[in-house]
Amino acid sequence: MSYVESVLARIKEQNPNEPEFHQAATEVLHSLEAAINANPQYEKAGLLERLVEPERIVMFRVPWVDDQGKVQVNKGYRVQFNSAIGPYKGGLRFHPSVNLSIIKFLGFEQIFKNSLTGLPIGGGKGGSNFDPKGKSDGEIMRFCQSFMTELYRHIGADTDVPAGDIGVGAREIGYMFGQYKRIRNEHVGVLTGRGLSYGGSLARKEATGFGLVYIVDEALKSKGDTLVGKTVAISGSGNVAIYACQKAQQLGAKVVTMSDSNGYVYDKNGIDLDVVKQIKEVERGRIKEYAARVKGAEYHEGCKGVWTVKCDIALPCATQNELDEESAKILVKNGVKYVGEGANMPTTLAGTEVFQSNKVVFLPGKAANAGGVATSALEMAQSSGRLFWSFEEVDAKLKGIMANIFKNIDAAAKKYGFEGNYVVGANIAGFEKVADAMMAHGIV
Ligand code: NDP
Repeated sequence: MSYVESVLARIKEQNPNEPEFHQAATEVLHSLEAAINANPQYEKAGLLERLVEPERIVMFRVPWVDDQGKVQVNKGYRVQFNSAIGPYKGGLRFHPSVNLSIIKFLGFEQIFKNSLTGLPIGGGKGGSNFDPKGKSDGEIMRFCQSFMTELYRHIGADTDVPAGDIGVGAREIGYMFGQYKRIRNEHVGVLTGRGLSYGGSLARKEATGFGLVYIVDEALKSKGDTLVGKTVAISGSGNVAIYACQKAQQLGAKVVTMSDSNGYVYDKNGIDLDVVKQIKEVERGRIKEYAARVKGAEYHEGCKGVWTVKCDIALPCATQNELDEESAKILVKNGVKYVGEGANMPTTLAGTEVFQSNKVVFLPGKAANAGGVATSALEMAQSSGRLFWSFEEVDAKLKGIMANIFKNIDAAAKKYGFEGNYVVGANIAGFEKVADAMMAHGIV
């Protein structure tokens, strides 16, 4: 059995009931095989065994009182996966589906993504099975305060810097930051995605979606093409989806879909983003309402249907495993040429295989959505230096980072004989720096 296969077998044996983590580890380790074989010293140093084991997992109780005076209890998690190249960095997810397997898969992916940005940040992830949907503002605040009352002792501006993710936006970050500051009596960059009045960075809100479109644009350019006139299908209608839509439209594409976990809207005239922002960011409503407000738009129940819409470019921006083999085949049949993952692991392994075998340019999440965490690292730099950069300054840095990521994943794929395979390229390019640092640190 090869080194990679033996480590994968060990993961499954030692971590049963963690399918998402197995899936992420399988994708990453298989694609690293060429780099591992070229460096036999890694096996002797137990490098992969150490890489797949989080440095620390914190699991805790989050008690809070709802508006009816009833005590509620949720599970809280922080997985500090790897700090070889910098402090742990990665978002917090509040969603009822959250469990240890999902947080581990996200934390594991985060190691390579953060490395790819070229910035000094390690990998971590956290969250809770708390469902923010339908909760009052007061309930959200009490939950966030309770969550931070435990989390604060495990994080710090030079130790672990969480950020937002699904269900955690500016409001939640604000409540958690307020509680951290109150307990620790220090105003430091311990969370990113902060509001602009208390240490946040301009362009952080837009960064993941913008970055996704910047890297897709780089891929198009490499083929002598542009976004102008392209039809784009986007899933999700949260932070990533909204700003991916905005940038795609700015660069001349027509975005025709958006979705949420109930269904999707199709607007053949191109999505009116002001209406989406009003529904999702202001009213916190459902995407269904878009069709009621915009003439000519259609709403369809079931979020999977979004992939039956004909498009040149597909940008899955909702959640893991939302694009499966069947949907990938429909997209290919309908002529999709580029897929950029705004979400983390939205495409199943079988779906990815369909795209790659049909020569669709496939940009995996760890490269394509790295703009968010890269800009979080820029927020950390501004916090440490007590600086505040302009929107244009941050956006220009983001654009440069995304162009660099594309260059590096392209080069790594070519170096190991996998030209055009950006899954292999991203994993190897991200892995090399982390492996190097881990080797330098000795057996720790
Ligand atoms: P938001 O909470 O702002 O939006 C999530 C969107 O996805 C919503 O439209 C939501 O619909 C939909 N969604 C969530 N869960 C499901 C589900 N199980 N099935 C179908 N749709 C679902 O999150 P973000 O936009 O921040 O995150 C989206 C993805 O991007 C996630 O995978 C996240 O990890 C990834 N990401 C986010 C970054 C960021 O900076 N925010 C950075 C890098 C990656 P509904 O309202 O119905 O739940």
